[in-house]
Amino acid sequence: MEFDLIARIRARAAARADVVLGIGDDCALLQPPAGMQLAVTADTLNAGVHFPQDSVPGDIGWKALAVNLSDLAAMGAVPVWCLLSLSLPTSDESWVDAFLDGFLGLAAMHNVALVGGDTTRGPLSIGVTAHGLVAPGSALRRNDARDGDDVWVSGQLGDAAAALALISADGTNAPPAAVAAALRARLDRPEPRVALGQALAGVANACIDVSDGLLADLGHVCAASNVAARINVDALPSSAALDALGLGAGLRRALQASGGDDYELCFTAPPARREAVAAAAAAADVAVTRIGSIHASTGLQAWDADGVEWTPPRSGYVHFSS
Ligand code: ADP
Ligand code: MG
Repeated sequence: MEFDLIARIRARAAARADVVLGIGDDCALLQPPAGMQLAVTADTLNAGVHFPQDSVPGDIGWKALAVNLSDLAAMGAVPVWCLLSLSLPTSDESWVDAFLDGFLGLAAMHNVALVGGDTTRGPLSIGVTAHGLVAPGSALRRNDARDGDDVWVSGQLGDAAAALALISADGTNAPPAAVAAALRARLDRPEPRVALGQALAGVANACIDVSDGLLADLGHVCAASNVAARINVDALPSSAALDALGLGAGLRRALQASGGDDYELCFTAPPARREAVAAAAAAADVAVTRIGSIHASTGLQAWDADGVEWTPPRSGYVHFSS
């Protein structure tokens, strides 16, 4: 039965000139260009943990690849190949077709070839491995943030966390449908900042993608670089949809600073490179916002616009209440 599914997947997988042998044999054969390094990453999505139980298969497929392309983006790598390990409760061809619409749709946008994987029966779980190319010495790493660097973030923060909070909200004061849909789209179909990551090579000192929340992920940069960061929680960029919720400062800051699932890039660069950062953002057609600075100490401090230190709420989960 799995063979039917694999045949369906194989029939739809796009080719690339550097895929010597794709789906169908015991291994794929891949030809990296001479002198380039491979950036390799893997992420697994489990139902109810990494995507809501009510997610449609096309969105699950998109997100499974998007979170991996986001890791490649954070290294400044050019995505090239991927592997897909599917654990499915039933051999459901229409589910797989819809899943592939999302997965292969995003793959096509970034010229990524699906070159193999594994298909098994079990609880719904999607494991993806993605490969990218990077020139030696040009990968963006977490451990190169320097004293005096600016801290930047791409796009907007907090939409996905707001969408997640709305799912478990009691429905009173529900936002307009268009606002809820815009937030939900950011949760279900994050756009990996692939072009921005590549444009930041040679410009940013350190980079990470924001998957677990800005403070947590910037904290990883600080720990790896042995530096401190100070950020202004009232400078965090927000979307029109998030603004339309009319949230109080406490809830908005919590969603934006510690919500997670944003898949934006957080990076540091010396102030002398502000114009280069702006040029990279323009080339990638993504907004970037300066949100703080790096200091020669350790830890991470968040301040509000009035200069009052801000600490995130203790609970990891943020809930809307009426
Ligand atoms: P093997 O038993 O040799 O591991 P499989 O029957 O698992 O082979 O897979 C056959 C071929 O199909 C292999 O090339 C494998 O990489 C590919 N494949 C299996 N499942 C998937 C999948 N979900 N997506 C892409 N390729 C897959
Ligand atoms: Mg196998």
